[in-house]
Amino acid sequence: MGKVYLVGGGPGDPELLTIKAYKVLKSADVVLYDALVSKDILTITKLDCLKIYVGKRDGRHSLPQEEINELIYKFARQDKIVVRLKGGDPFVFGRGGEELTYLKEKGIEVEVVPGITSAVAAPSSALIPLTHRGVSSSFAVVTGHPNRGIDWSAFAKIDTLVILMGVKRRQEIARDLIKTGRDPKEPVAFVEKATTPEQRVIFSSLEEVALNPPEVRTPAVMVVGEVVSLGLEMNLVSDLNNLSQLALRNDGIDT
Ligand code: SAH
Repeated sequence: MGKVYLVGGGPGDPELLTIKAYKVLKSADVVLYDALVSKDILTITKLDCLKIYVGKRDGRHSLPQEEINELIYKFARQDKIVVRLKGGDPFVFGRGGEELTYLKEKGIEVEVVPGITSAVAAPSSALIPLTHRGVSSSFAVVTGHPNRGIDWSAFAKIDTLVILMGVKRRQEIARDLIKTGRDPKEPVAFVEKATTPEQRVIFSSLEEVALNPPEVRTPAVMVVGEVVSLGLEMNLVSDLNNLSQLALRNDGIDT
């Protein structure tokens, strides 16, 4: 019997892969991967490694979960080292739990290799601290997916909210959060394509997202809370530093 590794591929930047994930990928006979996995990570594998895409494609749905489970099982039965590679961490909205249960019930050996989740990496790489003394001492990660029927009042008193899969419903989410009593002036950030060269941070407020939402490209993480103002300040300082460096260089001064 083979072995299955449920591996977190990190948020985007291949350098944020763990050393353990790197080693496991090197040993893999088969890799089944999702849409949010960086293509660079897939080049780590052996030349003869079989790589199968099981994510969403051009608006079409991903393979049904049962088919993915069966595919992993089939390869494990063939004595293969199987890597099930997911973006971020496999257990943060990654259906890793379902795969683990299925495989364990079938008596397959499974090991989980945690990954850096975008829920933490996106705010962090956008210079937004999730907790900050005197500003935020709690954060929650929640899905904005329409099928989940979230009771937003449960999050009214959490200092910082990190919302995954919330881009499409951002306007509704902002309205719901204001209804639960959150301050309409509360700052909001969207971190697009975090930790990749295309990372972009859009700053807004609950009020603005509720009335006139800014354009946001996916994948993006939505962050709500006072800590976002710290992030905004830090981004402005970085931009100013970059600008002054640029100005100095343009003056012909070696920096
Ligand atoms: N298991 C993943 C999350 C899967 S749900 C993890 O731990 O990161 C998919 C959601 O993750 C997306 O809708 C988006 O909100 C977020 N996401 C994943 N990668 C991202 C990235 N590089 N930048 C911004 N958001 C990202």
